[in-house]
Amino acid sequence: MSRKKETDYTLIVMLAVVAVIIASLTIGMISAMKNRRVAEPGTTPEQTVVVTDAPTDAPTNIPTDAPMEVPTSTPEPTPESTPEPTPPPPTPTPTPKPTNTPAPTATPKPTATPTPKPTATSSAHISATPAPLPVINLKHKGDPTDKMIAFTFDDGPNGLENGSTKTLLDGLRERNIKVTFFIKGMELDTHPYHKTLLKMAYDDGHLIGNHTYSHLNLKRMSEQEVFKEINKTNDIIEQITGERPVFLRAPGGAFREDMMAAVGMINVKWGPFDIGDSTGDWKKSHPNATTQDFEDYLVNAIVSKAQDGDIILMHDIIMTSVRAALRAMDILKEKGFRFVTVDELLLRNANENQTLSTTYIYTFMRQGDTRGLVDKK
Ligand SMILES: [Zn+2]
Repeated sequence: MSRKKETDYTLIVMLAVVAVIIASLTIGMISAMKNRRVAEPGTTPEQTVVVTDAPTDAPTNIPTDAPMEVPTSTPEPTPESTPEPTPPPPTPTPTPKPTNTPAPTATPKPTATPTPKPTATSSAHISATPAPLPVINLKHKGDPTDKMIAFTFDDGPNGLENGSTKTLLDGLRERNIKVTFFIKGMELDTHPYHKTLLKMAYDDGHLIGNHTYSHLNLKRMSEQEVFKEINKTNDIIEQITGERPVFLRAPGGAFREDMMAAVGMINVKWGPFDIGDSTGDWKKSHPNATTQDFEDYLVNAIVSKAQDGDIILMHDIIMTSVRAALRAMDILKEKGFRFVTVDELLLRNANENQTLSTTYIYTFMRQGDTRGLVDKK
């Protein structure tokens, strides 16, 4: 009797223990599921941005903010793009009108938002989703058969009221010359006046392009970092000017070609010659950089080499370059050149159904060239 009772008790106790175990397991599972559900959407942990050292391959005596174009700068004209491809110039239409009427559709976002991916660094999945071709609202349009040159200025805006960018803007306004600025996003955050300079440049009719945010080598970055570098700068520029850039110049011309379609901007390098060859205008630490000699040297380098269709790379962060550029413009004007923004130069030979490709790297555009022109649809 008492033994049976004992057994019963033992049984009851065991059952109770089992029940408790099952209950606690169930509770554990439920709360684990709950946690996971909470963690899933949107909580992708911030990708740690690998702060690569500024990959300046430039000689060590160059200050760190020296433009990166330098080392890689020798433009590599593609075989078919070398000297003068001379198809007959297109017959000039009597009334020059913009070849690119803006599409009726709302302006598509020029850059694709990267879909968050679980892994950050693999480049295997940038793939598919090419961004739609950007709509290019031509800033200016003149006679495409003119002898034309596009001056481009990188790494700014820089300086204050008497600084180099402001001096350039004043000089361009006096001459009624339009150029293209490739803006380094970070500069806009270093001083409020830099934003004013950008607005001034935009209002003066210059074309504003993107030169990334931090001016690092895009080829050494993950796709997420590349998108961030480009989009951040596009966002700031758009806030200030109201217009989202379409043209991009990668620092040093180093761009991840596997990402071009997805980024969806027009890539512009420079060419076919590089100012001063080994003595680029960026060399502000050059022994002669602040002397008249160096300025003269730059003026001569530009004037002696410039041809119709060239894209000339200079830096508005350096006063010597700014002065040299303005002087060179005066001489080139005498020689019959017209100064255009990059959009006009690159679209000079396009018909109204054509536009620029997001997967071609533009270096210069002679009369009659059709390289890099694609159908709009
Ligand atoms: Zn640069």
